[in-house]
Amino acid sequence: MLTINNYVKAKSLEEAYELNQARNARVMGGMMWMRLGNAKVQTIIDLSDLGLDQIEENDHVFKIGAMCTLRQLEQHEGLREMYGDAIAKALHHIVGVQFRNQATVGGSIYGRFGFSDVLTCLLALDTFVELYNGGTIRLSEFVNHKSDKDILVSIIIRKSNRKLRYDSIRQTKTDFPVLACAVVTGPVHGKETWYFSVGARPMKAAVLEKEWEIPKDISDEQLEIYAKEAASQFTYGTNMRGSAKYRQHLAEVLILRSMRSILEEGR
Ligand SMILES: Cc1cc2nc3c(=O)[nH]c(=O)nc-3n(C[C@H](O)[C@H](O)[C@H](O)COP(=O)(O)OP(=O)(O)OC[C@H]3O[C@@H](n4cnc5c(N)ncnc54)[C@H](O)[C@@H]3O)c2cc1C
Repeated sequence: MLTINNYVKAKSLEEAYELNQARNARVMGGMMWMRLGNAKVQTIIDLSDLGLDQIEENDHVFKIGAMCTLRQLEQHEGLREMYGDAIAKALHHIVGVQFRNQATVGGSIYGRFGFSDVLTCLLALDTFVELYNGGTIRLSEFVNHKSDKDILVSIIIRKSNRKLRYDSIRQTKTDFPVLACAVVTGPVHGKETWYFSVGARPMKAAVLEKEWEIPKDISDEQLEIYAKEAASQFTYGTNMRGSAKYRQHLAEVLILRSMRSILEEGR
């Protein structure tokens, strides 16, 4: 059971950060995950008065406040225009609408959960995290940091001419994924570059970058070689949802489908 002694609605990020330095203090997002744990929290810090619940868009970036809900992300028109339905696809299996109206982007990324669809999807894009103390760093770097006492302020996705696809396999609707996969491609310094993010391996998502010029009319057999090569670069583990071997096979299939879909769009 979770017990909380003291609740504070922070008036500034500075206050939230200071309070969070105490050993038994915790920042709260939507509390959807935390409430299921066993912990004695001395002070719980609520960020909901700090204006972090907006998605801002300009010519260069999307800036997603840590207190934005997963539902806001799922429904954002600008993100849909830029990436089609891929982001919504990554989110809509997560429990249900009421749940996604409460779970936050900050809690989802800060948690660095192995099963995270949110992390898998955002990792494939040109994504940064803004930390109160640690500055703005790449999500791919943050994901390997140990959990500390910093505060995640926002997620920043740099806009560029990239195509995104997302897919996952679940044993039943709304369960954790057995495997999650995002594929992105676009020109980087004039070279066609592919990004593959595979999560729920069951370890947390990791990203792979490949400079591959792939002809749009490539045969299925040839594309399968690329997909197998990409999938083989990740490590996989076994748990109650699937074996390492099965997960690698799923990764090959999901990567192949996403690559094919991206290539077909460009025809
Ligand atoms: C039953 C269940 C099923 C789920 N299924 C899936 C799924 O299939 N796919 C998926 O991707 N996710 C899934 N999730 C995870 C969910 O989507 C959220 O990621 C999770 O609930 C955390 O978000 P939250 O806002 O509730 O964070 P909280 O539970 O409030 O916090 C989580 C952690 O993050 C810290 N934290 C929160 N915000 C900040 C911040 N701004 N700065 C620093 N630290 C912060 C908290 O201190 C805590 O340690 C599931 C969760 C549950 C409970």
